[in-house]
Amino acid sequence: MENLYNYTKAALQEKLVTAGFKPFNARQVYEWLYKKKVTDFDKMSNLSNRLRDYLKNTMVLPELKLFTRQEAKDGTVKYLFALEDDALIEAVLMRHAYGKSLCVTTQVGCNIGCSFCASGLKKKDRDLTTAEMVQQLLSVETLEDIKVSHVVLMGTGEPFDNYDNCMAFIDVINDPHGLEIGARHITVSTSGIVPKIYDFASRDKQVNLAISLHAHDNTTRTRLMPINKVYPIEELLKSIQHYIDKTNRRVTFEYLLLGGINDTEEDADKLAKKLKGINCYVNLIPYNPVNEFDYKASPIKTQHAFYKRLINHNIQATLRQEKGADIDAACGQLRVKKES
Ligand code: SF4
Repeated sequence: MENLYNYTKAALQEKLVTAGFKPFNARQVYEWLYKKKVTDFDKMSNLSNRLRDYLKNTMVLPELKLFTRQEAKDGTVKYLFALEDDALIEAVLMRHAYGKSLCVTTQVGCNIGCSFCASGLKKKDRDLTTAEMVQQLLSVETLEDIKVSHVVLMGTGEPFDNYDNCMAFIDVINDPHGLEIGARHITVSTSGIVPKIYDFASRDKQVNLAISLHAHDNTTRTRLMPINKVYPIEELLKSIQHYIDKTNRRVTFEYLLLGGINDTEEDADKLAKKLKGINCYVNLIPYNPVNEFDYKASPIKTQHAFYKRLINHNIQATLRQEKGADIDAACGQLRVKKES
């Protein structure tokens, strides 16, 4: 039996046509799954009996098991879901003025090993399937009785280390007969896997790209993110410029402000110099201390000084407000706690 949530509409259409059904049947099935959220094939009333039997005999529609739900004062909700093999994954719902945004996990554990990240403490066990990502979204919508408007692939895992499944996930949630989340409302965040940035640039979608930069120089960045040894800043920025030229899209650089590491005004000047001429904005993220690491948060004054310095250099920037600060906040923290 196969998990039907793994199927993009195009793949489902191909499968159904091969089995002797009509191309439009894929659209009908998609509407049942994602518009009407019906999981009982017998209730898909406009499908022929033969198609319903075919689906019943070949496909399953499993649900994720909710393990924990934590809600912060600001309305941010963190979920810990158990997968079929009992692996635990997190998803985080954030409520913004512009809508409801879900941060999804793409891998069980992560091999990138960023030195500030709780998720990196657990090496990758496996990639998530497309279905397991789709199910995070469906589960949250059902649990909260809401419509998620924005999706960020920014939970545990490196999406470009699970490229095909993540791209299929984007196709599923973006499909006009499915959840219909606009491409411009979907953001993929990468630690900087350069070859995949080139692949991503060649996709015909308006999906946003965010890059975890966190430093303006290779020595600091390698210390924070060992992936920088493989794809140093110069190579990374070259691939980003290619992406911008190809897609005409602005990129986001994520920059974690770590006290005494990368947060001085001089760092801001050097960062601005590196990013000059790149169509981007910088998302400054105040660090949320994790027990396992020695890193400190930047003092609020330092954060604001850094931000102002970038703005003075005409670099567009935002100083992100920490969401869910009263519950386990940094990516991976909740999962690491439960498993330890
Ligand atoms: S920050 Fe992201 S890429 Fe880096 S270790 Fe954590 S989950 Fe992996």
